[in-house]
Amino acid sequence: MHVLIIGGGTGGMCLAHGLRKAGVSVAAYERYGSRRDGLYGYRVGIDPTGNRALKECLPPDLFDTFARDPRHFNVLTQSLRTTATFELPEGRDEINSERSVSRSTLRQVLFTGMDEVVHHGKEFTHYEQHPDGTVTAHFADGTTATGDVLVAADGTRSAVRRQYLPHAKIKDAGITAIATKTAFTPETRALLSDEVLNGLSLIFGTKGMIGMLHVMEFKWDEQGKPKNPADTALLDSWSGLRFDNTRDYINLSIWSADDHFPEGTHHRRGKQLVDIALESPSPPGRPPPSPCSATPSTR
Ligand SMILES: Cc1cc2nc3c(=O)[nH]c(=O)nc-3n(C[C@H](O)[C@H](O)[C@H](O)COP(=O)(O)OP(=O)(O)OC[C@H]3O[C@@H](n4cnc5c(N)ncnc54)[C@H](O)[C@@H]3O)c2cc1C
Repeated sequence: MHVLIIGGGTGGMCLAHGLRKAGVSVAAYERYGSRRDGLYGYRVGIDPTGNRALKECLPPDLFDTFARDPRHFNVLTQSLRTTATFELPEGRDEINSERSVSRSTLRQVLFTGMDEVVHHGKEFTHYEQHPDGTVTAHFADGTTATGDVLVAADGTRSAVRRQYLPHAKIKDAGITAIATKTAFTPETRALLSDEVLNGLSLIFGTKGMIGMLHVMEFKWDEQGKPKNPADTALLDSWSGLRFDNTRDYINLSIWSADDHFPEGTHHRRGKQLVDIALESPSPPGRPPPSPCSATPSTR
């Protein structure tokens, strides 16, 4: 049995690890040219089902490298004032609770030790099924790969699904989200209370605007060196750190129904998006909040 996985994202690479661990021959095909590409995104919440899958499929040292457990769940106003804080028990079962990971770091973790399995720069175009039950995948560079099973792990706009289930359509949820990543420095640290720093904060804005604030801290510093000497062996053995340029950051996202945002928001970039986020509806008589001008809040 030889399995072809199209897409080297979270699902595809977790499956690739699991199959290899189970002794099944597997190859994954990723459209990006190298593991330094495609490092977008911010926080991904891994729920217990995802944790169990990662724990079962990954080598144990890789599983330990990347996740961060929130210590508090906070509810904030649009001006980043805390209205409620719930302490989450320490030493929780790491599998049966939600964990936070940086998408880019998780991607590097999943690529680690998989050089023989992942083929970069392979953009899948279509497949062909043969009478003997095998299947051939075709790639944009003119190459092909043949196996017994083809797995569609190529994300929301899956080209495999387009061919296999041509009638299936992507349904737009009608929600627009804007997300920011701000470097976590002594200056930005001073803007956050301890609960917000060590927790996951849900923001209830006005007129249906919702947000999330989350701090991602890693076991390595600006230079990529372990912050705590006890982690030296763990990080030395993780080659992904050579490719992952992610450093400590604050992630602030806001989202609401499309019609709460100006026309064309999806085509704006960088500073323009920050301006739109700052102009989002504010309570009457109060200026729009700036994510970087809030003062540390108390409970
Ligand atoms: C750029 C990006 C940023 C994201 N950021 C976040 C985030 O910050 N927070 C969050 O919760 N979720 C985020 N997501 C969504 C989240 O990563 C996915 O929902 C989750 O990882 C599910 O993973 P998946 O394996 O199904 O798909 P994905 O993780 O999307 O992986 C699909 C993979 O297939 C590859 N691919 C696509 N088409 C082809 C093709 N034709 N040939 C070969 N390879 C192909 C893609 O390059 C990608 O590596 C992001 C997704 C993307 C693509």
